[in-house]
Amino acid sequence: AVEYATALDVFDAAVSSDPDRPFLHYFDTTLTFAEIDRAANALASALVADGFAAGDRLAVYVQNNPAYVIGIVAAWKAGGIAVAINPMNRQRELSYMLIDSGATALLTLDDLYADVAEEVLGSGTTSVRTVFTSSPLDFQTRNDRRLFEGVERRRSEGTRDLVETIESYDGTVPPAPALAPGDVAVLTYTSGTTGEPKGAMNTHGNLAFNAQTYRDWTGLAPGEGVLGIAPLFHITGLVGHVMVAMLARSPLVLTHRFAPDVALDAIREWQPVFTVAAITAYNALSAAPGATPADFESLRVLYSGGAPIAPAMADRLETVFGAYIHNIYGLTETSSPSHGVPRGVRAPVDPTSGALSVGVPVFNTVVRVVGEDGEDVPVGEIGEFVTKGPQVVSGYWNKPDKTAESIPGGELRTGDVGFMDSDGWFYVVDRKKDMINASGYKVWPREVEDVLYSHPAVREAAVVGVPDEYRGETVKAYVSLRNGESVDADELVAYCKTQMAAYKYPRQVEFVVDLPKTVTGKILRRELRDLR
Ligand code: ATP
Repeated sequence: AVEYATALDVFDAAVSSDPDRPFLHYFDTTLTFAEIDRAANALASALVADGFAAGDRLAVYVQNNPAYVIGIVAAWKAGGIAVAINPMNRQRELSYMLIDSGATALLTLDDLYADVAEEVLGSGTTSVRTVFTSSPLDFQTRNDRRLFEGVERRRSEGTRDLVETIESYDGTVPPAPALAPGDVAVLTYTSGTTGEPKGAMNTHGNLAFNAQTYRDWTGLAPGEGVLGIAPLFHITGLVGHVMVAMLARSPLVLTHRFAPDVALDAIREWQPVFTVAAITAYNALSAAPGATPADFESLRVLYSGGAPIAPAMADRLETVFGAYIHNIYGLTETSSPSHGVPRGVRAPVDPTSGALSVGVPVFNTVVRVVGEDGEDVPVGEIGEFVTKGPQVVSGYWNKPDKTAESIPGGELRTGDVGFMDSDGWFYVVDRKKDMINASGYKVWPREVEDVLYSHPAVREAAVVGVPDEYRGETVKAYVSLRNGESVDADELVAYCKTQMAAYKYPRQVEFVVDLPKTVTGKILRRELRDLR
C-alpha cells in the first residue's frame, strides 16, 4: 500500500516521530528534522507574508546545499510548487526556466545571484519579485578550500538573507496547506536534447510513491546514512536522496557539489550506507586520490541509474567497493525509478547481447514493449518501453501538446528501446534517437561501448554515428584511457572486430582526455555528434 499521500506528509511524519534525528550532514554540521522544519516554516511564512499563494512557484537554484531542502519543503508548506533549477545553468537557461515556470520567488546562493540571476532579474522579463539568498558558506564552518577557495559572502541589494529569515523567525507555524496527491510538487526540467526544455510536473503522489520504492528496495533503516552525490535539482537526487532520507529517517550527507576527493572525506566522516548515482560517479570515486577499499566499507547498498552500466565496468567497480552495484532505471518523467533490482539480487545478463538487465518494474507499474505500430511485441523482441504507474508525471508544464504526444492517456512513451525476457526482466538496448544506421543496418551504440569497456586500457567510451559517403553513417568511438594505460586506435578497432559483426565495429577511434557529461554523469553522445 502507498504509505503517504503527499511529499509534505512524508516530511511531516519524520518531524513528528523523530524531530531530533539528524536529517542533513553538511561538511562539519548536522541539522535535525526539527531544525529543517523550523527553517522551512520560517521561509514559508516569509513567502506567504509576501503574497506567495497556493500553486505559486518558488525557483530553487542552488547546489547540493541545505538551502535546497529548506526551499522545496518551504514551497510545499506555502502550498506552492518548487522549480528545481540546475546551478550550472547560466543566464539564458535560467531566464527560460523562470519565465516558463512563471516563478514569483527565487531562492539561490549569493554568488549565483551576483554572477547569474541578478542580470536575468534585472532584464525585467521574469515574474520574480522576492529573492532569498544564502551564502555557500552558511550551514557549516569548515569552508573546505577545495570547494570554497576565494568564496566570500556577497549580499546584494534587493535580496533577503535566508539565515537571517530563519534566525528572526517568531515560530508562528504557517497554516497547513491543502495538498492533494495529484498536485504538482516540483517542476524538473528535461535537458532539452529534443527542442526546448520541458518542465516535467512531478506530483506529490509521484514523489511519495517513489520515496517508498527506494526505501523498500534498499531496505534502508532509520539512521543509516545516504550519500548525496547525485545533483539534487535532478529527480534522482530529489527522490533517491532527499525523499528517501525523510521516509527512512536517514541522515543525508551533502557536499555542495560532487568532487571525488571531497566525497571521499565525507564518506570517511559520516559513514553513509546507501547511494544512488550514475556509474561515472562511482568510476570517479573509485579513482579518488588515496581511496582504498576500506574507505568504502560503510557503503553497503549501491545503486546506479540514469545511464547504462557496462558489465565489465560493474565487475571492476564491485571489487573496489566490495559491494554489488544494483541497476535502477527511469526518467525524469517517471520521477526516478520505473524499474530496478531489489537489494541483494544480482541482475541477469542477457546471454545474446551481454547487456545487464535494468531490473523489473516497480510495484503497481505496467510497462509494455511496443513496436512502431504501437502494438505490444512478443517477449524477447525489441520495442519502445511505454510506462504507466503511480510515478509517471502528470504532464509538462504549460505544454498540453507535448503532454498529449509523449504521455497519451497517462502512459509515457520513454524513447528507450529494449526488451523483456521470459522471466520479466527488462533490458534497455539504447535510446531510440541514438541508433546508428550503417548501410541500412541498425547499430546500437551501447553494444559497441560495452565491448570497448571490456578492454583493460579503456576508462570511458562513447559511440556515435558520423556521416559517411558510402554507408550513410558509420560508427565512431570516442575513448578515454585509464591512467598509465595505452593502446592505439588500430589495436582497439581490431579488438572490437573480433567480437562483433562487421557493420558494427567502430571504423574510427578518437582518443580524448575526458568525455563530455551532464552534471548527472551521463555521457553526452549528442555533444560528440556535434563536435564534427
Ligand atoms: P532528455 O530526456 O531531455 O534527453 P536526460 O537524458 O538527461 O534528458 P533523464 O530523464 O535524466 O533525461 O534520463 C532518462 C534516460 O536515461 C532514460 O530515458 C534512459 O535512456 C537513460 N537511463 C536511465 N537509467 C538507465 C539505466 N539504468 N540503464 C540505461 N539507461 C538508463
